[in-house]
Amino acid sequence: KQLNSAQVRRMYLDFFKQHGHTEMPSRSLVPVDDPTLLWINSGVATMKQYFDGQVVPDNPRMTSSQKSIRTNDIENVGKTARHHTMFEMLGNFSVGDYFKNEVIPWAWELLTSDDWFGFDPEKLYITYYPEDKDAYNLWKQVGVAEDHLIADKENFWDIGQGPSGPDTEIFYDRGQAMNNLPEDDPESYPGGENERYLEIWNIVFSQFNHTPEDTYEPLPQKNIDTGMGLERVVSIFENAPTNFETDLFMPIIEQTQALSAGKVYGQDKTDDIQFKIIADHIRSITFAISDGALPSNVGRGYVIRRLLRRSVVAGKKLGIEESFLASLVPTVGKIMQDYYPAVLENADYIASVVKAEEDRFSATLNGGLNLLNSVIDEVKAAGETTIDGQTAFKLYDTYGFPVELTQEYAEDEGLQVDVAGFKAAMTEQQVRARNARDTDNGMGVQTGLWTDFETPSEYVGYTDLEVSDAKLI
Ligand code: ATP
Ligand code: MG
Ligand code: MG
Ligand code: MG
Repeated sequence: KQLNSAQVRRMYLDFFKQHGHTEMPSRSLVPVDDPTLLWINSGVATMKQYFDGQVVPDNPRMTSSQKSIRTNDIENVGKTARHHTMFEMLGNFSVGDYFKNEVIPWAWELLTSDDWFGFDPEKLYITYYPEDKDAYNLWKQVGVAEDHLIADKENFWDIGQGPSGPDTEIFYDRGQAMNNLPEDDPESYPGGENERYLEIWNIVFSQFNHTPEDTYEPLPQKNIDTGMGLERVVSIFENAPTNFETDLFMPIIEQTQALSAGKVYGQDKTDDIQFKIIADHIRSITFAISDGALPSNVGRGYVIRRLLRRSVVAGKKLGIEESFLASLVPTVGKIMQDYYPAVLENADYIASVVKAEEDRFSATLNGGLNLLNSVIDEVKAAGETTIDGQTAFKLYDTYGFPVELTQEYAEDEGLQVDVAGFKAAMTEQQVRARNARDTDNGMGVQTGLWTDFETPSEYVGYTDLEVSDAKLI
């Protein structure tokens, strides 16, 4: 079956609408009234108020395609076939309404019926929680072969306290040719860290309350929360080796290619990673700004800044010397116009924010790269493996390099960065900055970078997915 991204999204939502669900809009990436979460990172993150009982939804059955940002996957981008910083999570939700008996047959129908996705059942593998006999029996009843049903004790969703329960995950076998591991590698199974068995859907049965006493009490109200990665499913329909060779990303990659110094996508592994980083990050940047976030040195703003500067360096590696990111913004808008018309409408504004930030960084980029490369040479020549904290701080403070960018750059050369030393230098600088706030301290074009620095705030995610966000911010 041939379906493009807009058709896959529509089909999923229509399927669940036919089963009595209300289609909910894709909410802002910026969480509303939820200081515990930096970004919306899943469909259910927008439904917290229904799941914890604070608000009763008009309809207990809801479906959505929710834009989501996960910073814990930044470093996976371009390296795995399947991870993005921003992706869309298709989901269906039951707030105390239907449960396993309904959701498992529906999932199987959507995936395998010729009226819907029409996937070959031979290609699908299911993992379930070993003690969850109900899920096992239901999957068998709908026709899943025994050797495609895999017990895995990892299949339990638990955030420490509150609603929790077993889950079940659906994998699509992309074939050994797509794998990055030998067939007999112990990790090469559905649920393992490999590129053959692609996790496409996660269905959570929240049926227990994890109490402060660490017991699991059955919940009076049982809920369903599911998440399917749109980009991954589209890669299957478009028979693309990774999520990137699909209608969601290729126009951005093609445009970047035209801007590059004769680089061609698909010819060199290292170049391809840069193309993918740019195509991925510009989507997150564009959508985040469209939803009202702005680059800065704290919290969400720092994430945008980090993604944007990482993209500029990726462009540099492709031989792009001019500002280019802003020109990709309307392309993102056009690709996503169908479901997110506001992005194209805001494109001029978004592009102007991107341009200002890119120009600011570009002004010091070459100086920073020169410093970084010469320090890398020195460290290597001395037979050492660590870039000191002062250098990392100078790169940050004078040249605008997020420390994570320095770390990645160093890692490519087999080196590390003394992050503790970086933080110490940062603290020292903040103290000095406070004393000299209104004077010209001669720090050059990037002084503004730290003057708006704030005290770190602790972010504890609704799920544990966002913990890494707090890292240095
Ligand atoms: P993975 O194990 O591949 O990292 P996950 O188990 O962390 O995925 P879930 O939290 O179960 O992901 O999210 C539900 C679905 O959303 C996944 O089954 C997958 O299809 C999709 N998904 C999760 N993270 C990403 C990402 N970074 N980029 C694209 N799709 C994602
Ligand atoms: Mg993950
Ligand atoms: Mg997983
Ligand atoms: Mg999962």
